Amino acid sequence: MLPSQQMSRAILAFIFGLLLAAQPKPLNWAEIDKETLQHFSALVQINSTDPGGSEKPVVDYLKSVLDKERIESKVFTRTNLADPSRVRPNIVARLKGNGKKKPLLIVGHTDTVNIDAKKWTHGPFSAHREGGHIYGRGTVDDKDNLTATLMSILLLKRQGLPLDRDVIFLAEAGEEGATSIGIAFLVSEHFPDIEAEYCLAEGGSAVRQGGKLKYVSIQTTEKIPRGVKLIASGVAGHGSVPLRTNPVTHIAKAVAKVSEWQPPMRLNDTTRTYFERLAAMSSPEEKERYNGLLIPEKTDAIQEYFAVYEPRHNSMIRTSVSPNIIQAGYRFNVIPSEAEASLDIRALPDEDMTKFYETLKSVINDPVIRLVPQSGSARPAAPSSALNNEAFRAIETVAKRHYDGVPVLPAMSTGATDMAFLRAKGVQCYGVGPAIDSEDGPKGFGAHSDQERILESSLYQFVKFHHDLVVELAGAK
Ligand SMILES: [Zn+2]
Repeated sequence: MLPSQQMSRAILAFIFGLLLAAQPKPLNWAEIDKETLQHFSALVQINSTDPGGSEKPVVDYLKSVLDKERIESKVFTRTNLADPSRVRPNIVARLKGNGKKKPLLIVGHTDTVNIDAKKWTHGPFSAHREGGHIYGRGTVDDKDNLTATLMSILLLKRQGLPLDRDVIFLAEAGEEGATSIGIAFLVSEHFPDIEAEYCLAEGGSAVRQGGKLKYVSIQTTEKIPRGVKLIASGVAGHGSVPLRTNPVTHIAKAVAKVSEWQPPMRLNDTTRTYFERLAAMSSPEEKERYNGLLIPEKTDAIQEYFAVYEPRHNSMIRTSVSPNIIQAGYRFNVIPSEAEASLDIRALPDEDMTKFYETLKSVINDPVIRLVPQSGSARPAAPSSALNNEAFRAIETVAKRHYDGVPVLPAMSTGATDMAFLRAKGVQCYGVGPAIDSEDGPKGFGAHSDQERILESSLYQFVKFHHDLVVELAGAK
């Protein structure tokens, strides 16, 4: 061999070596499933209920896993609290990209709703495996997303994939009703640490019916809780002498009028696309219904059908009002001087609430009734996340790859999530989640129920989907 040939061989070998080094390490999914189960079980076994438990041991666990992997993390804890003995930390970690694009934020929440231990067949913190399911509080809200988020950041680090953008891991506290120590605190005090172009968090799922995948639901916007109290005042008196001013009568009439009223239907980009895509995959009868929603001569009957048979759809097409508490009186023979009703209003993201309350007043049409907006759990209103950007296209591509090519439906959730705070800061947020049997919720196995559970196989599938999506959105192109 000529020296020049030897030389070029050496160069080739060197280049080949470089190419090999640039290749991501192949993943051993059987091993990853085992590791997923280990982290998931450990996280479910920690009592992080609110009230009753604490997010601190979850953060300690996550920190130790990240430390072991040499992923630097920061813990942010709000300190100026009424009860300083309750430490409720949030944890953030970042994998650096080359800065070509703005960061991707991946989020899970560490708290869960509380439990009534007596009602659980399998212990709420057992992570008990039976019949293909894993049982425990938080298995589908939100320790599934928390685990997928953790696995994604671990795998990305191990693979050493070059990234076009930073990937930020966030495990946040207080999602279930204490946002002031979680997302609201992070957004107001530490926003540069979590600022991102896109965010993936809870709120979506792959929907199965009869054990078959039907569609993948991606949350792109949500309704905003805007409760009000109706208060009627009158003169107290003896029950033997009925009064026209009796506040109980006024409140009862007001609640009845509100219940009979349907605020006007209004679709947005998300719900319009949702019904179009749902129609395309439905039976002829359902298809006619979903497509007829915007046809003037059909819409009233369809909306009435929704109100009776598809109440979630009825809520998705309008700002909804549900009277949930009535309080009045304390003694059989006393006419009380005050009565009140609490209305749970879930507003469309673009609702003008000042105008809405005015309309509500005119519907009630009773000068005795005062309307007092409740600000307790206020979440900010924000525009929907886009359906025509890089992120949503990537979600569609990757979802089809992992979920048998079923349609991807953008969805507006009727409940609230912490994404409202991020969307209000301009982050385009998408709610994702594992495959869920739609029959599970009504049977008492859903989120917040007494037998919360997840399909074990769907947890593993979700971790693969999540990882693939993060690589698609952040991997160097
Ligand atoms: Zn949740």
